[in-house]
Amino acid sequence: MKLVQETKICHLGGAGRFEYVVTSLPDGSDNWLVRVRGERPSQVTEVTEEELVEYANCRGEIEAVKRYINKFGPPLLIEQEGEEFFYAETLGRWRASQIHFQEIWDRILGIEIRNAYTTKGLGKYFPELWKPREPLKAVQAEGEFQVSGGGLIFQAKTHYMALVIKMLAVSVAGKLRKCSNPGCSNTPYFIAEHGKVQYCCQECGAWGQRKAKLKYWREKKQVGRTESKPESVQTQGHSADKNKRRGRKNVTEKAR
Ligand SMILES: [Zn+2]
Repeated sequence: MKLVQETKICHLGGAGRFEYVVTSLPDGSDNWLVRVRGERPSQVTEVTEEELVEYANCRGEIEAVKRYINKFGPPLLIEQEGEEFFYAETLGRWRASQIHFQEIWDRILGIEIRNAYTTKGLGKYFPELWKPREPLKAVQAEGEFQVSGGGLIFQAKTHYMALVIKMLAVSVAGKLRKCSNPGCSNTPYFIAEHGKVQYCCQECGAWGQRKAKLKYWREKKQVGRTESKPESVQTQGHSADKNKRRGRKNVTEKAR
């Protein structure tokens, strides 16, 4: 465990000056094809926690994908050197990789997998695809360990593999989370600043607070008078300003 925490997870790639060639695909959908050229990124880049969250939650609009790639580099590079484009992806393939990544995240947490494949169509009839299981404790990636700057780094073969290894490393620290609001449309996949955080943002925290209050009043109605109070919820520290304006009503520090 100690080894993983002290090892930097890296890949050869990352941010760069990229030029995008975007084509809309003529299938009547919002599908696109993006190809990236320019200076092929080849520096050793360490994967950050921020990046895990941005990749897992990145929206499918081409502008959002370009923002991600500008900041962190393409998740996979076409291996052949000398090609004009070093990255090419359609929305469909981008989503498939992202859903795979989100499923590993869910598996590491040992929670139910909910996505377009498992909640719609045939997937729902195959609970083995989405039922919660024992938390995943191993992932596979190719790469090599190197000594660099007096420390140990793991250089993954691809950027995507580095993301997956980093995810496992963050889970060792107990900080990997999925927002407890099932309708979360903000950042359902997030990394907690401290152990009790269950909601990604104030909005989702407010939803949790309402749910807890409702549960409390229902139980109170059934049991009659009770001394207990509604459960408090813990949210990630976003929207700090709103927080102040609301007099910090929604943030309480009480544990169950
Ligand atoms: Zn949320």
